Amino acid sequence: QVRVRFAPSPTGNLHVGGARTALFNYLFARSKGGKFVLRIEDTDLERSTRESEDAVLQDLAWLGLDWDEGPGIDGDYGPYRQSERNSLYKQHAERLLESGHVYRCFCSSEELEKMKEVAQLKQLPPVYSGKWATATDVEVMHEMEKGTPYTYRFRVPKHGNLKINDLIRGEFLSMLDSVLKVSWNLDTLGDFVIMRSNGQPVYNFCVTVDDATMAISHVIRAEEHLPNTLRQALIYQALGFPMPQFAHVSLILAPDRSKLSKRHGATSVGQFKEMGYLPQAMINYLALLGWGDGTENEFYSLEQLVEKFTIDRVNKSGAVFDSTKLRWMNGQHLKALPSEKLTKLIGERWKNIGILMESQGSFIEEAVNLLKDGIDLVPDADKVMLNLLSYPLQETLMSAEGKAVVEDKLSEVAEKLLAAFDSGELITALEGGHSGWKSWVKDFGKSTKRKGKSLFMPLRVLLTGKLHGPDIGGSMVLLHRAGSEGLVCPQVG
Ligand code: GLU
Repeated sequence: QVRVRFAPSPTGNLHVGGARTALFNYLFARSKGGKFVLRIEDTDLERSTRESEDAVLQDLAWLGLDWDEGPGIDGDYGPYRQSERNSLYKQHAERLLESGHVYRCFCSSEELEKMKEVAQLKQLPPVYSGKWATATDVEVMHEMEKGTPYTYRFRVPKHGNLKINDLIRGEFLSMLDSVLKVSWNLDTLGDFVIMRSNGQPVYNFCVTVDDATMAISHVIRAEEHLPNTLRQALIYQALGFPMPQFAHVSLILAPDRSKLSKRHGATSVGQFKEMGYLPQAMINYLALLGWGDGTENEFYSLEQLVEKFTIDRVNKSGAVFDSTKLRWMNGQHLKALPSEKLTKLIGERWKNIGILMESQGSFIEEAVNLLKDGIDLVPDADKVMLNLLSYPLQETLMSAEGKAVVEDKLSEVAEKLLAAFDSGELITALEGGHSGWKSWVKDFGKSTKRKGKSLFMPLRVLLTGKLHGPDIGGSMVLLHRAGSEGLVCPQVG
């Protein structure tokens, strides 16, 4: 059975890179009828916090990436927090000690420092010398009796077969011996610590024990974990556990092709949520970072992604994070929302931030219809609405474009328009809604002998105080309703 996991370290927010890793795991699990496990990697006790864990879980839930096992959802392989699995790590560490894959190392930190210095002088890589690798039982007993603190060190084999197959990168490791000389220099690995002298297990050891004991079949994670994979593979072998399939996903890059970081703007899921992005747009965009179904199509729902996703279509090269494209994509998803849903989102927002007195009603529906084509994000709607409610005529007339409208005999139109106001004719027309406006504007055009731009531009300027905006008729009908029904909060009206 396919079992994958997302294993965040709760030391900060969920970033787009982590979210994409979670998404690929989720899609893989769902497309294979497998299980998606969530494991909290909180071995770094100083940097891990419960707040961060809660925030990460919330962001995942917001994205719709629900897990089958993990914090809050019990399964057969718990507990799902590394901090609660210490006895398990201890048990497997002891097993490795017994089998000789691990030995006790009594070197003090001063000694280890010295070794590094010596290695440096000899221009060798700063790896453990292997001092305790060959110690006799008597030597070990002696130190233990003295109470000298010790770590558990993994004995890195000098020869052997190690094959790691990566579903995205292909076979990147074969004979360990040849690996020594190629990209995975085992000389620079050295015997590494798996348990510190205070009994705390080391990260790579925990990950391996967890993946093995949680029966993880596929490890899909970020490329930056590649160097860990070698150590983990050695531990798998020593523990006698079957190795999972690995799939290392490429980095997410900034537009300048450097590693995406905070200095490039928003990078955490929480920030995008705050800015008003829709979870379905985030999901869609993240999926496209390094994956495509081979067609031109770019618009997918989560369900469609589950249907289309295959790991062999995940790209080996880095994917560039383009926030403009994400914004555009949000606009696409926003326009695809059922109209009631969008109206509800925007209506509640306008009520909350004090633009409108009510959060629902046909007025909001009408407003959303009028402006939805011009927005990419829900909060964009605020600006359009507030703009609609403003009347900056003076400013408009002072602008170059405004002056041109004035020169086009604005006063002639203004005079006739005033008359239409005074007689109550315009108000009556607006009370008749869109059709009322249409027939009025037709007559008005005839009486002023104007049409097209030379009719609508001065009308727009005089009626809305602006040169640009949504459909003028729609705007007027809406503004009329806002006024006559008392829908706008007094401070913005
Ligand atoms: N905890 C690691 C991280 O947050 C993930 C480790 C893994 O996926 O193997 O980067």
